[in-house]
Amino acid sequence: MTKKVKVRFAPSPTGDLHVGNIRTALFDWAYARHTGGTFLFRIEDTDTTRVTDEYIQAAIDTLKWLGLNWDEGPEVGGDNGPYLQSQRLGIYAEWAQKFLDQKDAYHCYCSAEELEAVREAQRAANVAPGYNGHCRDLTADQIAAYKAEGRLPVVRMRMPDGGTTFNDLIRGDVSFDHKFVPDFVLVRGDGSPLYTLAVAVDDVLMKVTHVLRGEDLLSSTPRQIRVYQAMGLAIEDYPVFAHLPFVMGQDNAKLSKRNGEVSIAWYRDKGFLPEAICNYLALLGWSPGDDRENVTMKELTELFTVEKVHSSPARFDMKKLEAINGDKIRALTIDEFLNWSLPFLTKAGVITGSADEIALVKLALPLIQERIIMLSEVPAMLKFLFVKNFAVEAESVSKITDDASKQVLQRSLKELEPLATWSHESIEAALRSSLIEEMGLKPRIAFGAVRIATTGSTISPPLFESMELLGKEASLARIRAGLEL
Ligand code: GLU
Repeated sequence: MTKKVKVRFAPSPTGDLHVGNIRTALFDWAYARHTGGTFLFRIEDTDTTRVTDEYIQAAIDTLKWLGLNWDEGPEVGGDNGPYLQSQRLGIYAEWAQKFLDQKDAYHCYCSAEELEAVREAQRAANVAPGYNGHCRDLTADQIAAYKAEGRLPVVRMRMPDGGTTFNDLIRGDVSFDHKFVPDFVLVRGDGSPLYTLAVAVDDVLMKVTHVLRGEDLLSSTPRQIRVYQAMGLAIEDYPVFAHLPFVMGQDNAKLSKRNGEVSIAWYRDKGFLPEAICNYLALLGWSPGDDRENVTMKELTELFTVEKVHSSPARFDMKKLEAINGDKIRALTIDEFLNWSLPFLTKAGVITGSADEIALVKLALPLIQERIIMLSEVPAMLKFLFVKNFAVEAESVSKITDDASKQVLQRSLKELEPLATWSHESIEAALRSSLIEEMGLKPRIAFGAVRIATTGSTISPPLFESMELLGKEASLARIRAGLEL
């Protein structure tokens, strides 16, 4: 009988989740959903010097925002909790003690300086760096002497001679010679566990069947497998590994946390939709076998298999993500577009959120849905409808103070003042027949001046519709004010 799949996403929130983390989470989620398995979310927060409560909450919020709902983990609970490693310290301590009792691990008293001296000597001799096994078989007297010095030992795992080979679902068989995997630390001198101990213990106790994670963790795998052995796990119960290739930046360098644009919070603030991010990241390093550029979450769960993940690094392409985001914005219903846009408008101070304002936003949104690629563009586009003390933006003033523009504005005023019906059709008809047909102006010149005068900017939603929404009184007042500039 095949086991029910359980996949976990286990970030260490030492900063905002970034693009690479999210792609891992997305693939974990998709694999769990595709197989009808469980998606487990665990917070690896044992590094208390770098993990903060804010980052933990941000990681939880980001997954929720993306729609990557989990079946076991923070907030939802489950049978294998707690799901924050900081709440499981007793468990790791017990296992470390067991490994010591079994002689799989030993206390190592080497000081930082002594370890550095070993490394220095290894460098000089040009041999692989790593712990030299100094404390593997200390005598009782040696131990007593170290204790008398007040040294606090770390717990170190004994790596047997030989090697480790495991089958990676993306890379096939991967082998590590233990010459290059020295005895490693499980528990620090202060009693705190290291990642390798906590991750392996939790994957076993939480009954994880598949570890899909970033390629940067490939080299830690033989150490984790060593912990499984020490825990007495049967080989057939080891989780299956799949190491996802790196996400590279446009410049072909690995995307790193140092680059602000890799943080998911940055994308949210810019007004990327979660569907666009998931759609784009899903196809970054995976494809269902065709060259599609769009995939819905539903299709992803139907089609996702690890075998179709590419083994070579994927290149992040902001232009593609923007194009997808534009597509997703255009595909929103007006009510959805409204819901996504309102927080951007209120945050920018364009509206306070009154019912009248919201009604006007709803009328204006169809005018810009085709024109924007990010929600953060909405406030600048609609500001002219709400602003109390209207003024033409500084860099556009000079574009309507020349004689030709003044003539355009004067004539526009004359044609628009008597209009009985204020609709975009009547405004357009009046301005076209006078400015274009009678005055013989090019539309860009004629309408450009009216646009700047009424909306304050060279960039706005379609002009006649904008003027209709703005209303006759305000439109004419602004044109008059434009003439005074
Ligand atoms: N907590 C680790 C990290 O964020 C990942 C653990 C794992 O996937 O094995 O780098």
